[in-house]
Amino acid sequence: MQAAVDERTAIQAAIRQGLSNDEFQLYYQPQVDQNGTLVGAEALIRWRHPSKGLVTPDFFIELAEETGQIVQIGTWALDVACKQLKAWESDSNHSRLYVSVNVSARQFHQPNFVDEVLRIVEINGANPHRLKLELTETVVLDNVDTVISRMKHLNGVGIEFALDDFGTGYSSLSYLKRLPLTEVKIDRSFVNDVIADASDAAIVQAILAMSQTLGLGVIAEGVETREQYDFLVKHGCQKFQGYLFGKPMEIDGLSRIAIPFGIKL
Ligand code: C2E
Ligand code: MG
Ligand code: MG
Ligand code: MG
Repeated sequence: MQAAVDERTAIQAAIRQGLSNDEFQLYYQPQVDQNGTLVGAEALIRWRHPSKGLVTPDFFIELAEETGQIVQIGTWALDVACKQLKAWESDSNHSRLYVSVNVSARQFHQPNFVDEVLRIVEINGANPHRLKLELTETVVLDNVDTVISRMKHLNGVGIEFALDDFGTGYSSLSYLKRLPLTEVKIDRSFVNDVIADASDAAIVQAILAMSQTLGLGVIAEGVETREQYDFLVKHGCQKFQGYLFGKPMEIDGLSRIAIPFGIKL
């Protein structure tokens, strides 16, 4: 037990140092439409640890959420993503892409969350219409009325919301109707087995049908094979993200994708 506590304390200190030494980096994963045309990207954090190399978020996001460091990390990520949006604005190839940024529950529930987002968008001169925030069902679980009012406030300046990892949490379907969401993201655990597992296929179909009825957009995450993509298209999925189209990559890689032609399927 003591060893576990020591390790947590060590990681916490390392995160603090990583933030001040600028060791974090955003990777971007392509999001495409039914034609394979690039429409946006999800910003995913990576940690260039001096001795451990490239560290993925599953190693530190949960702990950062517990210690509260996620607030600083999330602010940093939003700032970098907004700088990227600004940089793309003058580049006719990329000016219509949006960037999706993950927001943790702890970050969203900070009293000054809305003001912080508005401030970061503003100081960077980023177009809020190109910014999307990904919330998980845990964000939405407590205090739905406050959540809705914050979302509406940000909606008011053009910022959109996606509900991430959809299907894995506990959100009631009635919330789905009330929340000002642009889209739901079907969790990759369902997409993964959609061909082999009849119940996952049924869940995916149900999410797609329900979203259509509610007028919500849908994006599938974790699309790795042509068969999964064909299944999703057949059942009305509009957008896709996954290794089939591209892994999370450094910004230069994303900038090299020629949008008018999109990604070959
Ligand atoms: P997420 O938001 O659900 O992101 C999708 C995850 O699925 C990413 O993992 C991505 O690399 C992975 N993925 C995408 N396509 C495929 C695929 O075809 N196959 C497989 N096997 N995996 C795929 P990643 O980058 O390790 O991020 C993990 C989680 O960490 C994210 O899940 C998100 O919850 C969190 N995260 C990442 N960046 C941030 C951030 O800036 N702030 C916050 N609060 N959380 C973040
Ligand atoms: Mg996400
Ligand atoms: Mg997700
Ligand atoms: Mg997921």
